Amino acid sequence: MRTNDVLSAIALSDPLTALNNRRAFEWELPRQIQNARNRNIPISLIMLDVDFFKSINDTYGHLTGDQVLKFLAARLRHNLRIYDTPFRYGGEEFVIVLSNTDYQEAFSIANRLCQLVSEQPFAIDENLDLTVTISAGTATLTPKDDAKGLSLLERADQYLLQAKAEGRNRVVGCCGS
Ligand code: GH3
Ligand code: MG
Ligand code: MG
Repeated sequence: MRTNDVLSAIALSDPLTALNNRRAFEWELPRQIQNARNRNIPISLIMLDVDFFKSINDTYGHLTGDQVLKFLAARLRHNLRIYDTPFRYGGEEFVIVLSNTDYQEAFSIANRLCQLVSEQPFAIDENLDLTVTISAGTATLTPKDDAKGLSLLERADQYLLQAKAEGRNRVVGCCGS
């Protein structure tokens, strides 16, 4: 790769999880929204956050916390369709752009991911299997949403907060604002 391509790849990638980072997300989302509107197809977001992640760090140390994030990212990536893109939004928060996906399908994908995470513990080492859960909010683009996707993301985030408040390890979402 040429130097500039290498630098671009570094700038858009999260070193811990090897997922695309928040900068990549902010670059990609407006393009995906434009594309969805041009083609008149739906687009949805899943915003997800690890439950009680601070207590994993506090109990087992930050290196174990890092391992959990790596394993979680890999599990997300392996269980998504090829055209759905996961990003590390920050800390223990991830956002997934689901192209050509309506709110029912987004909700069911998010539920499946929640289940995939909670059902199978993460094997940190031979002595430590950690059961982790995530909470998620889903939102689907409406005609009222801005072109950058700020209101769409805000809605997914509000539903995520609701999922936390309702007890965690669950998905909350709906069709619009
Ligand atoms: P909740 O269920 O409400 O989401 O609780 P929580 O403990 O997951 O959330 P909180 O925001 O209290 O804590 C998130 C923690 O994630 C705090 C921060 O130190 C940790 N964190 C953020 N980024 C990283 C990282 O890259 N590695 C590790 N090990 N920890 C991280
Ligand atoms: Mg968080
Ligand atoms: Mg959390």
